[in-house]
Amino acid sequence: MSESDSASDAPDDARLPEDGARTRQPEEAQGAAAPARKRAAKKSAEKAAEKAAAKDKPKLTKTADRLAKLGLRSDIDLVLHLPMRYEDETTLTPIGELLPGGIAQTEGVVFDNEIAYRPRRQLVVKLQDHNGDELHLRFLNFYGSQVAQMAIGKRLRVRGDVRGGFFGMEMVHPAVKVVEGDAPLPQALTPVYPSTAGVTQAYLRKAIDNALSRAHLPELLPETVAHEFMDPLNVPPLMDAVKTLHHPPVNADEHELIDGTHPAWTRIKFEELLAQQLSLKRAHEERRTRAAPAMARHVAGRKSEETLLARLRGALPFTLTGAQERVVAEIAQDLEQPHPMQRLLQGDVGSGKTVVAALAAAQAIDAGYQAALMAPTEILAEQHARKLRGWLEPLGVQVAWLAGSLKAKEKRAALEAAALGTAQLVIGTHAIIQDAVEFARLGLVIVDEQHRFGVEQRLALRAKAQNAKAPDQAHREFQPHQLMMSATPIPRTLAMTYYADLDVSTIDELPPGRTPILTKLISDARREEVIARVRAAALTGRQVYWVCPLIEESETLQLQTAVETYETLVAALPELTVGLVHGRLASTDKAAVMDAFSRNEVQLLVATTVIEVGVDVPNASLMVIEHAERFGLAQLHQLRGRVGRGSAASVCVLLYTGPLSLTGRARLQTMRETTDGFEIARKDLEIRGPGEFLGARQSGAAMLRFANLENDAWLIEPARGAADRLLHEFPHVVTQHLNRWLGAREQYLKA
Ligand code: ADP
Ligand code: MG
Repeated sequence: MSESDSASDAPDDARLPEDGARTRQPEEAQGAAAPARKRAAKKSAEKAAEKAAAKDKPKLTKTADRLAKLGLRSDIDLVLHLPMRYEDETTLTPIGELLPGGIAQTEGVVFDNEIAYRPRRQLVVKLQDHNGDELHLRFLNFYGSQVAQMAIGKRLRVRGDVRGGFFGMEMVHPAVKVVEGDAPLPQALTPVYPSTAGVTQAYLRKAIDNALSRAHLPELLPETVAHEFMDPLNVPPLMDAVKTLHHPPVNADEHELIDGTHPAWTRIKFEELLAQQLSLKRAHEERRTRAAPAMARHVAGRKSEETLLARLRGALPFTLTGAQERVVAEIAQDLEQPHPMQRLLQGDVGSGKTVVAALAAAQAIDAGYQAALMAPTEILAEQHARKLRGWLEPLGVQVAWLAGSLKAKEKRAALEAAALGTAQLVIGTHAIIQDAVEFARLGLVIVDEQHRFGVEQRLALRAKAQNAKAPDQAHREFQPHQLMMSATPIPRTLAMTYYADLDVSTIDELPPGRTPILTKLISDARREEVIARVRAAALTGRQVYWVCPLIEESETLQLQTAVETYETLVAALPELTVGLVHGRLASTDKAAVMDAFSRNEVQLLVATTVIEVGVDVPNASLMVIEHAERFGLAQLHQLRGRVGRGSAASVCVLLYTGPLSLTGRARLQTMRETTDGFEIARKDLEIRGPGEFLGARQSGAAMLRFANLENDAWLIEPARGAADRLLHEFPHVVTQHLNRWLGAREQYLKA
C-alpha cells in the first residue's frame, strides 16, 4: 500500500478501503481469547449497521453490504482485494529472547492470573516458559470469560508488541490463543486485509478463498504487448501472483512479500499502473471529442505583420530564447486545433513564462476571442496586469482587472467589460472564477502558478469556460483552451503518473545575461554582519529583499514578527528607504509599496512570503531569508528566484538558527549546491516524498493502492508503453483492464 497520503482531494468513498485498512480490527488485537467481547462488540456494531441499513436500503444483507462498502461486489473484486500486510506467526521466540520494541510471538503456561487495581483496574496474566522465563500480559479492558480462559495452568500462544515493564518483559493486549495439545505453527505468513468495522479478518479470508476457488483471472494483455513490456519484468502470471499474495507459499521470500518487492507484487503494481495510465490517457484522448475555438495564426485577408501577435513580438524589449520559441510554437499549434488545449507550461523561476502567456493571449485575441489570466496572489496578478498592459494597451488591446479588493464601481465596470466582450484580456486573482463573472466569448484560460490553486478552483474555472452566455449555439458548446503555468518543476516520473492527461511544454533555458545566484548559509549569530552587507549593497545602487520568518502556527505572530523586523531594520539602516509588504496590507498599499520598489524608490523591501511567487524586479540582487530552516525547498527556490533576474551578480543569504534537523540541513545544503529547479525538485522528492508536489491533480494518486512512486517508479515506463499500444491497437482490452482494476473508481479520476 502506498503510504503517501496524497489523495485528500478524492471523494471520501474512493478511499474507503484504505481508510478501513488503517483501523486494526478488534479481533486482530484480541485474538481468540476475547470471544465474549467480540460477540458483544459485534452485536452492537451489527445493531448500528442494521439501524442504518433499515433507514437507507432496507434489503441488503449486512455483511454483503459491508463488503460492498469495501468495494467488494464480485468474485474478481475479492480476488483482487490483496493483503495490506502480513503477520509472521510462523515462529515462536522464547520469552528470554524477547526484545522490547518489536512484535513477537511466544508461548508459555499461566502461573498467575489476577485483577489488579493500581493504577487502574486491569487483568494481569503471568506466563512462564520451559526455561523458567516470565512474561506479563496486561489487559485494561477485559471480560469475565477472558479471566477464566487464561486460567492458571493454561498454555497460551501470544503475539504482540514487547515492552520492557517494571517487572520484566510484558505485552499489553496481545493477541492470545489457548493452545491445547499439539498445535502446529502456521507454515506461511498470515495475510492481513484492509477491512472496515464489522468485517472480520476471518470472514474476509473465507470470502476471498471462496472467490479464489471460483474465479479465474484470464490474462488480458495480448501476447505481443506482454512480450514487449511485461516479460522483461520477470513476473508471474496474474492468477499465480494473486494466489501467492493471498497464500504465501512456505518457501516464498518473506522480506520481499512484506516490503512489496516480491515478483508477485511487481506483477500487481504493473497492472495497477497500467490501469492508471490507461485511464489518464483515455481522458486525454477524450478531449479530442470536445470542441474548442480554432484560433488560426494567419487570418485570410489580413497581412501577417498586422496581427496583434506579430506587433507584440515586434514590441518586445528582448528576443525570445530558443526554449521560449519552442514552447510558443507548441502552444500556438494547440490553439489552432478545434479541440481544447490542456497544456502545462513548466519552466524554472525566471525562465520567462509571462511573455509566453502574453503571446498565447494575443493569438486568442487575434482570432476574436477573450483570454483570461488568473494568478494566485494579488501582488502577482497586479504585476501581470502592469506588465501585460504595458505591452498590449499601446497595441490597442483592452485589459480588465479583477480582484477581490476592487471597489464596487470598478468591479461592476470590469464585470461588464468581461460580459460584453469589450475587455479582450481579463487579468486577476481567483475573483475571476466567482459566480458574478461572465465572459462574452472566452477562448483561452491561463493559470499562473497553477499548483497554488485547489482542485475546486480549477474545476470552477473550467465550468466558467462553458460560455453559457455566448451569442450563438456553436460558441456555447465551446470549451476554452487551457494553459497552466508552473515554476515548480515536476520530476519526470511524477509528471508521467500525475499529468498523463496533460501535454507538457518545458522551458529549459534561462534568458541570456543572467549571472548565477550565489547562495550562502549564515548562522543567525552573524546577523550584524549581514545587516552591514545589506547597507553596503544598497549604497552601491542594488536593491534588497529581506524575507521574514515563516510562522506556520500563527498568522498574527508572523505579521507581528514582520513589523518588528521592519522596525529593527529601519533603525539599523537610517540611510536607506525601507518598505514593508505583508498579506494583511490593504491591496492598494501593497501595490503602492511594490510599485515604489520596482521604481527603485525603496531600496530594502521587508516582506513575508507574499512575494514568494512571480514577483519580478530585475534590479533586486540581494535577498536575505530569515529562519531559512523553516521553509520547504520548493518555497526557498521560489523565494530565491526573486533575485538573479537582471545582469548583476546576485546573492541569497540563508540565515538559519541551529540546531538544524537532518532534513533541515539537507534542504539548506541543496539550496547552496544548486539553483537548478529540476535538481531541487528531485532532491525534494528524495527528502520529503512525492506528497507535496501534487497540489495539482491528485487524481492520479487516488488510483494507486499498491504501487508507490518512491519505490516503483521504474515500472511506470513499461506501463506507459503498454498503455500506448493497448489504446491504439487493442481498445477492447483497455475497457476490460479498466473494469477489472478500477471499476467504479474511475469516475473519480476525471475531476
Ligand atoms: P517566470 O518564468 O518566473 O514567470 P518571468 O516571465 O517573470 O519569469 O520573466 C523573468 C524576467 O525575465 C522578466 O523580467 C522578463 O521580462 C525577462 N525575460 C523574459 N524572457 C526574456 C528573454 N528572452 N530575454 C531577456 N529577458 C527576458
Ligand atoms: Mg511567473
